[in-house]
Amino acid sequence: MATLEIRDLRVSVEADNATKEILKGVDLTVKQGETHAIMGPNGSGKSTLAYSLAGHPKYTITGGTVTLDGEDVLEMSVDERARAGVFLAMQYPVEVPGVSVSNFLRTSATAIRGEAPKLRTWVKEVKEAMERLHMDPSFAERNVNEGFSGGEKKRHEILQLELLKPRIAILDETDSGLDVDALRVVSEGVNRVRETGEVGTLLITHYTRILRYIKPDFVHVFANGRIAESGGAELADKLEAEGYESYVKGGVSA
Ligand code: ADP
Ligand code: MG
Ligand code: MG
Repeated sequence: MATLEIRDLRVSVEADNATKEILKGVDLTVKQGETHAIMGPNGSGKSTLAYSLAGHPKYTITGGTVTLDGEDVLEMSVDERARAGVFLAMQYPVEVPGVSVSNFLRTSATAIRGEAPKLRTWVKEVKEAMERLHMDPSFAERNVNEGFSGGEKKRHEILQLELLKPRIAILDETDSGLDVDALRVVSEGVNRVRETGEVGTLLITHYTRILRYIKPDFVHVFANGRIAESGGAELADKLEAEGYESYVKGGVSA
């Protein structure tokens, strides 16, 4: 069972010629098969955590450790992290000119698996995964992210998740901008992946809405750059009723 361990993680960004500490000691353990919801107010550092785990160069690690089965993730390049099985859904949010979804997915799968998937079985795999996500087959031939609607971007993320089969999946605001039907389809995709028991999921969200479809094993409240409280699914109900106010008294910034 793969285990991602985050210990006392501290992360800063350079902004306006000053160094600003965003993550102030994050502790979290995610095991394969577990679903963790990370919830918190805007600006609390949730996306910073996601980007830091994926190795985004903008974020400077100033302290703490992140390991996957004891291996130092922070020492790995972005590609090495992907190969080790750490997947960030919005890792490639940009348009990739001239590269179709189908080729992009195969290239990603090749990078992660270390060998190219056999073309015939691959085409079938992609087709079936797209059907499950209610995606039109023509989507596979479109260029990555070119003119994608919000809903198409999210479906594309879940398509990657289903096909690339990471060990640790980080989904940042996968629910934002989705109508109820799309939210259901996307949630079903996450639940399918979850049912394999082979993926540990970090579901980052501001809203409790998606948790009606995906029942987390653990809920963590993120505030002021660290986890302020952890609990089970019932903590999400409390947040839905009471909001984040009690966690941010004293102001969002530090
Ligand atoms: P969340 O995802 O919880 O809304 P973020 O991680 O996006 O929070 O942002 C946390 C804080 O860090 C905010 O004050 C934001 O302005 C700041 N921040 C995040 N990324 C950057 C960046 N690349 N440059 C400057 N400031 C950043
Ligand atoms: Mg965010
Ligand atoms: Mg180091």
